[in-house]
Amino acid sequence: MKRIFMEKLLPRFLEYVSIDTQSDPYSKSTPSTEKQWNLAKKLVLELHQIGMQDVSIDENAYIMATLPSNIDKKVPVIGFISHIDTTPDFIGKNVRPKIIKDYDGEDIMLNNAKNIILSPSYFEELGEYKGQTLITTDGTTLLGADDKAGIAEIITAMEYLIQHPEIKHGKIRIAFTPDEEIGRGAHKFDVEKFGAEWAYTMDGSQVGELEFENFNAASAKISIEGKSVHPGYAKNKMVNAIGIANEFLSLLPIREVPEHTSDREGFFHVHKIKGGIENAEIELIIRDHDKEHFQARKELLKDITDKLIKKYGDTILLKIEDQYKNMREKVEPVFHIVEIAKEAMESLGIEPIIKPIRGGTDGSQLSFMGLPCPNIFAGGHNFHGKYEYVPLESMEKATQVIVKICELTAIQIK
Ligand SMILES: [Zn+2]
Repeated sequence: MKRIFMEKLLPRFLEYVSIDTQSDPYSKSTPSTEKQWNLAKKLVLELHQIGMQDVSIDENAYIMATLPSNIDKKVPVIGFISHIDTTPDFIGKNVRPKIIKDYDGEDIMLNNAKNIILSPSYFEELGEYKGQTLITTDGTTLLGADDKAGIAEIITAMEYLIQHPEIKHGKIRIAFTPDEEIGRGAHKFDVEKFGAEWAYTMDGSQVGELEFENFNAASAKISIEGKSVHPGYAKNKMVNAIGIANEFLSLLPIREVPEHTSDREGFFHVHKIKGGIENAEIELIIRDHDKEHFQARKELLKDITDKLIKKYGDTILLKIEDQYKNMREKVEPVFHIVEIAKEAMESLGIEPIIKPIRGGTDGSQLSFMGLPCPNIFAGGHNFHGKYEYVPLESMEKATQVIVKICELTAIQIK
């Protein structure tokens, strides 16, 4: 099984990353960039070629396909999902991957001219991949393992199941979505059409990752109105919006920020402040895994606003907008979907790494749209930048996990 996967995964992956699919948060259309069609159309052809059924692509470039059941028994329909776009945060065109066979565990020179080195002394986990085949960038672009590794794995697993009918499975649905990196991958996902009882996004990082918890997320904007008066004659007259903004920030818990938190600790993250005497504006985001703590954070912003309004009058406006929610509440009632993935990994000798995501995934939105959707590793590291890489062996393991989950679902679930 091993060699077949390697031989199929590598050319697929290299082909996908050669196509620029960067998404664009400023675009209003779906997909947000025309170029995502280039990969989408290729994938549709390929799905037909490997023998998938009901291959469809809609007007928003959402691709779906079916691997029909090969057993009589009725078992749940499950799904696998990955995304075709790459992040707008870094250069995504002219990706020229380097393939390092039998990695020696030393520094990797990505780009001689620019002296860009991928080093295990900085990225310690590289050491674990000694002897493996690494796919890296040439130091000038991202790689796109996020999430083209996931696409290559899903297609390779489906092809393997088609070619090995002795492996029994129920009906499997797969989907590839546009615009995940700009937070819209789930927006136009037709959950009903997909028709799966649950699914997995293949969009995690290192081997073993299995995630079903993510942040609750909201954004907040605080607008402050001041009153400008000649500073020499301003006593009891001037209201300085900058001063009020400063006071607002000073009332936030100083240690509860991204740079001082990890694991399940939530935070406030002030990411923008601008202003003068007449107007000031603070933009921040709130993140917390715990629903009550999340609520308390929102309350704190309201309390601070009220307090400052009492002091300075009606000059402060707080606007909070919810962004996404922790999928845990949707996954826990159907926890067998996590157990199956865990068991699939363990039976392949992979130690599951279950930890809360310090962010969101499309899976969290999908979970609240009625498709519970934990996230599984796709194998890559250092997403969204020039140090991105993926070990081929990790992609192979992810492919095995997909096959195994299909198998176990047919055996275990009645
Ligand atoms: Zn991704």
